[in-house]
Amino acid sequence: MNFTNTGIVTVRKDRACAICDNMINRGTVCKTVNRKGVGRKWVCLSCVERIDELESLSGGLGANFDDEGYAQVCLESKSEIQSELMDCYDKLGIKFSGENA
Ligand SMILES: [Zn+2]
Repeated sequence: MNFTNTGIVTVRKDRACAICDNMINRGTVCKTVNRKGVGRKWVCLSCVERIDELESLSGGLGANFDDEGYAQVCLESKSEIQSELMDCYDKLGIKFSGENA
């Protein structure tokens, strides 16, 4: 995740992941996203990895493959990847408009 206002922290209280709702136990390392007007969200590391993967798939590969080639490489269509990514952003209170800051 490349947004600003994120950080890797060790949680001091049990938290629920903003994406998958899994419990992030006290003392566990996770990522926080702090958005103005939204507040702080906690994201478990497996969701962070998934978002990183979705971001690189939707951005990185997308530039080099047409939809058909893309589907062969990724076994997921680009629109599916983008909609999953949008869903993640939505849960983090991030407006999807290419906004990364
Ligand atoms: Zn999670």
